[in-house]
Amino acid sequence: MHMEKCRCGRDAVAYLHYSCQHMCAAHFIRMFDKRFRKTVRQFSMLKKGDRVAVGLSGGKDSCVLLHSLAELKKDLPFELVAITIDEGIAGYRSRTLRIARRECERLGVEHVVHRFEDEAGKTLDRLVKRKDSALPCTQCGVLRRYMLNKGAREADANKLATGHNLDDVAQTVLMNIMRNEPSRLARFNEPLVKSGRFVRRIRPLMLTPEKENAIYAMLKGIELERVECPYAHTAFRSHVRKMLNGSEETYPGTKFKVVNSFLEIEGALRSRYAKGAAVAECGTCGEPCSKGQCMFCRIVR
Ligand code: SF4
Repeated sequence: MHMEKCRCGRDAVAYLHYSCQHMCAAHFIRMFDKRFRKTVRQFSMLKKGDRVAVGLSGGKDSCVLLHSLAELKKDLPFELVAITIDEGIAGYRSRTLRIARRECERLGVEHVVHRFEDEAGKTLDRLVKRKDSALPCTQCGVLRRYMLNKGAREADANKLATGHNLDDVAQTVLMNIMRNEPSRLARFNEPLVKSGRFVRRIRPLMLTPEKENAIYAMLKGIELERVECPYAHTAFRSHVRKMLNGSEETYPGTKFKVVNSFLEIEGALRSRYAKGAAVAECGTCGEPCSKGQCMFCRIVR
């Protein structure tokens, strides 16, 4: 079988179609690590002495994030703690939870698990069975964001790192445009309102294509879970994902262009929507929200 070659002459393991480059394992890992560190620097994501909570689902993106942060920690002293949210999705989450546990043991990272069932009184499987309930991913997203923020705060973390990759961010940008929800885009990177109860979110893989996370995970011996969440097909995101993948195939670099355009206009969007945004406390749970009752309480209570 004909093997494509890296510029160094070794067999290639990856092809970067947006820059037309074949890469061997060593060059790929070097490029990947360099981009990871550059993203962290460019957006001032970390500093010495931080305590970083990693949202660790056990999927490839969050496991790669944990590995890359553990590697970075050797040069920039900060603390790591991993938080897994168990939504209670039968036949799915227990498998990735096992991987998450194993990766934490392997890297010597403290690991905490929070369950929907404990915080909301119901698993996601039960929540979605209720009459008139919102789409599974909508409920899941609200509950998970709430619990990760609270979990990070309880773990004394001042940063919350999530494994969102370039594909995720490009999808989110397009979804918010297609739904005509620019104010959601304005608060994508940080809440519009200031509250000491929000832990700052960072996304160090936001400029890394999903496919490259998968290659990196394989090269680093991270176990990949191939079973998809049973609710994934119900999400609007899944439609946008297909659309973006089709565009990327025909016009390589589309995902980078979508995300870079968003980063260009993000500042303007924030100043437009930050005016008049006020922080309040949820009347039921006391967590920050814009008014009345927070989304978490509206879903579960
Ligand atoms: Fe939750 Fe939807 Fe992701 Fe499944 S696909 S874990 S329901 S957000």
